[in-house]
Amino acid sequence: MDIRGTTKVCGIIGNPIKHSMSPIIHNYLAKVKGLDLVYVPFETTNAVAAVAGAYELNVLGMNVTVPHKNAVIPQLKEIDSLAANIGAVNTLVRVDGGFKGYNTDILGLKRQLELENVPLKDMDVVIVGAGGAARAVAFLCASEKVKSLTILNRTVSKAEEIANNIKQVFEGFNVSAYTINDYSVLENEKKYVVIQTTNVGLHPNNLEAPIYDKTFYDRVLYGVDIIYNPSKTKFMQLVNESGGQSFGGIKMLLYQGVLAFELWTGTSVSEEEANEVLQLLKKELNIDE
Ligand code: NAP
Repeated sequence: MDIRGTTKVCGIIGNPIKHSMSPIIHNYLAKVKGLDLVYVPFETTNAVAAVAGAYELNVLGMNVTVPHKNAVIPQLKEIDSLAANIGAVNTLVRVDGGFKGYNTDILGLKRQLELENVPLKDMDVVIVGAGGAARAVAFLCASEKVKSLTILNRTVSKAEEIANNIKQVFEGFNVSAYTINDYSVLENEKKYVVIQTTNVGLHPNNLEAPIYDKTFYDRVLYGVDIIYNPSKTKFMQLVNESGGQSFGGIKMLLYQGVLAFELWTGTSVSEEEANEVLQLLKKELNIDE
């Protein structure tokens, strides 16, 4: 592209940054939208200085990745309420006097579920895992008013911590925490939306799943795995074998980028454009299908 005096700059801060897919997403969208905008990677260990420097240098918007998603929060001028509850921010949008922080990782999952007609409101939901991604999914479930939330994790104390944090914000919310082996607490006569957030089944361990027992999968109406490589995980396969519908994680990755781009530029990315970006991501990640 032609970089001129008028060119707007967006970028991503993190460490390491070499493997980020975000430059591919945003430079492609800038090109198809005909915008005078460039997106660059910034490797840094100092999130505080990076945010101040980005504002000073008139940067339009930033993504934030590992390990800075928490550290940037005190440096923000404003923060979206869902991102504040989660305690992690991955997108900074320039406002008067600083940046406003959002968590488009979780807004990306929300958009994916809406587009794929996977309901949350009034549903019984199970989250498998209790790491950073699970925490974000759990707050999304509470803000989307699910009927009940069950968090299953190998280390039960982490599931309990998320459940307790949510109850402090959403008083009376129906959330419980168990070890992953206690999935028999799920009721036989109920059908659940299950969101798989552990690392189990991630490439190259494609044949692994966090739970193998068919009686668990018989209770799954919709199974969403946020892992995107492989595109069809063992968890998804087991959901399908028991008659449930399954979804993978690449669209969560796609829409976190699309939403950030829309926030920075005020444009709306069509489904056709989003699909073109999806194909680029699959190619770049060498994802089967
Ligand atoms: P994390 O904070 O490290 O949490 C990892 C989770 O996996 C924990 O609950 C951990 O349980 C569990 N786990 C790991 N190994 C396990 C095993 N052998 N058996 C059972 N449980 C195991 O990671 P994260 O940031 O939440 O990310 C989790 C996954 O989500 C990653 O695969 C990542 O690629 C994916 N992700 C995808 C997107 C997307 O855009 N699609 C976005 C974010 C993350 P313990 O607590 O017991 O250790």
